[in-house]
Amino acid sequence: MVNLKEQYIQLKDEIDQAILECLNSCQFIGGPAVKQFENNLSKYLSINHVIGCGNGTDALEIALMALNLPKGSKIIVPAFTYIAPVEVIALMGMIPVYADVDPDTFNITLEEIEKVYTDDVKGIVAVHLFGQPCNTDEIYKFAVKKNIFLIEDNAQSIGAEKKMERNTIITTSFFPSKNLGAYGDGGALMTNDDKLAKRIRIIANHGQQERYYHEEIGINSRLDAIQAAVLSVKLNYVDQFIAARQKAADFYDGQLKNILKIQTPVRVNTHTFHQYTLKIKPVLRDGLKSFLFDKGIDTAMYYPVPCYKQQAYLDKNARLPNTELLCSSVLSLPIYPEITDDQLLYICNCIKEFFKNN
Ligand SMILES: *Cc1c(COP(=O)(O)O)cnc(C)c1O
Repeated sequence: MVNLKEQYIQLKDEIDQAILECLNSCQFIGGPAVKQFENNLSKYLSINHVIGCGNGTDALEIALMALNLPKGSKIIVPAFTYIAPVEVIALMGMIPVYADVDPDTFNITLEEIEKVYTDDVKGIVAVHLFGQPCNTDEIYKFAVKKNIFLIEDNAQSIGAEKKMERNTIITTSFFPSKNLGAYGDGGALMTNDDKLAKRIRIIANHGQQERYYHEEIGINSRLDAIQAAVLSVKLNYVDQFIAARQKAADFYDGQLKNILKIQTPVRVNTHTFHQYTLKIKPVLRDGLKSFLFDKGIDTAMYYPVPCYKQQAYLDKNARLPNTELLCSSVLSLPIYPEITDDQLLYICNCIKEFFKNN
């Protein structure tokens, strides 16, 4: 699905040097490398504040903590997503209210949010899935109108949108396979709101502003200095990485769009192709997956089970048709910036071969 080695080889000199500088400085926690990366990312995204943290899941948890909502608060979240946002809502003693997603973009929409919204809903976590942002402006306007807060999980779509002027909290992950990936765990929160930014820093640092004076309950979640140094190098190339992913996606589109039994990804907003995800009739999906596996091609089902059918987060009343259909129809193909035309062509030819006989 991904090959991290190619990128490391390309950037080895710069990355090794950045890590060595970190080792020589012996500033392993915080310090200039973290500050520098936070500033670099804030410039790149034109957002006022970037606060590094341990990983993308922590970022979501800190975001929810920063909102100061009581236990039992209802939070709207897409049912078709990576589990992290649902997990942190539950962990905070809040209640996930599952919304369906758009069957073409895979993203949560205003329409689906309105269907499940009730007066006791206190917030929304929107996930920008697979590299393509939701229609955030209309979701944001709705949140403002209802006086509830919007958190945006941007772990899969960093760089898709460059000027984020909303008053929301945006979270991201630097998990190695993400579009901006570290060489270990990492995450960040972003906001334009000075007060929220200050609070987020306090929460992520044991609830203290001044050391050993704890104003509130916090957690310990830090972006590692070595990871920050790696990320500052990679940030200089992230637009190139995204362009290369888009080029690979164009290649797939060109080869696969005429296969009637496949739906290629629908683009309505800038798509950074964290995943290139096909929709295929459920009766054919598993067969294609194992056919490709036998040809040496790894594929993945993101995500096979609706969140409300997960044992830990069961909601027996939820029945969201788009989510259920997607869980049995999606198949993500290998995609990463360094994938070659030869590799792409081989994958496409194998897919064509499968559909000749099915
Ligand atoms: C990867 C991911 C996360 C979690 O990030 P970690 O750094 O692994 O904790 C959260 N949300 C989404 C949508 C993700 O893709």
